Amino acid sequence: MTIPTRPSPIQCTLDLDANGLHHGFLRLPYSRNDSAWGSIMSPITIVQNGRGPTALLTGANHGDEYEGPVALFDLARSVRPETINGRVIIVPAMNYAAFQVGTRTSPIDGVNLNRAFPGRPDGTVTEKIADYFQRVLLPMADVVVDCHSGGKTLDFLPFCASHIVPDKVQEAESFRLVRAFGAPYSVKMLEIDTVGLYDTAAEELGKAFVSTELGGGGTASFSSVDRTKRGIRNVLTAAGILEGEIEDLPTQWLDMPDANCFVFAEQSGLVEFCVDLGGMVTEGSPVARIWPTDRTGVDPVVLSAKRSGLLIGRHFPGLIKMGDCAATIAVMLDS
Ligand code: ZN
Repeated sequence: MTIPTRPSPIQCTLDLDANGLHHGFLRLPYSRNDSAWGSIMSPITIVQNGRGPTALLTGANHGDEYEGPVALFDLARSVRPETINGRVIIVPAMNYAAFQVGTRTSPIDGVNLNRAFPGRPDGTVTEKIADYFQRVLLPMADVVVDCHSGGKTLDFLPFCASHIVPDKVQEAESFRLVRAFGAPYSVKMLEIDTVGLYDTAAEELGKAFVSTELGGGGTASFSSVDRTKRGIRNVLTAAGILEGEIEDLPTQWLDMPDANCFVFAEQSGLVEFCVDLGGMVTEGSPVARIWPTDRTGVDPVVLSAKRSGLLIGRHFPGLIKMGDCAATIAVMLDS
């Protein structure tokens, strides 16, 4: 990987090192028909007090996922600097253009921010955002929390997750923070493809990294937002940044050992699930059936589980397309 030497075009309207509580913007120049010298203005809050570690908190890496933005707009409004030891950088909507229109990828360049890392300072708008996080914000952080949920096309059991990484000290710290988050489920997560992920960028820089999948369907519920707010505060407390006690919330640990955790549709149609989220499946048992929609009198295609476990994720819309991830299965762990 060649490291870009060109500076980022993104300017933060705040001093990233200032003490106290400050609200401003990440301003990304975006020249277009309706604004020749216009900008994308992504809200940012920085709160700093004392000399403790730095946490970088983000939501709407995908623009149709809402638990993170709600919890982070709330935290940015309510956090008091005197309760902080260190610094918290809050970006409620990383891919702000996508967030504004409620889509997973950017409406400007079509790029998925969470596949665009390390980004480019001279690339498309989304590549510029990735580059800014890669070279400016991530290096400042000790702890990184990126809040996701399923968006419009997936639905998940509420879980907090991190990954297996080569550095076992880093990995242990990440999973300590996952436990502190206290989501109903805590997952040792396997990604379908790690290339270009913000997760991977943070982990390769040695950061303690926590991600979440806290619901889905392109909305957020009272309970999913409530657990997100409590989880973020717990992580900040566990990292020694926010004063107070960690709220001990029960969690069930899950593992995703290999690619057999994923079930993909091999034809399009009308999806009928054979089990709900949180239900148990056994290897070879049906997870879903896909009905052809162009005629009656035809059997559905059965999608079977490739391992026994708990259904933690499912395709959300009623119609499914060939190649969609239909189901995600994880294995229960004892602790
Ligand atoms: Zn996401």
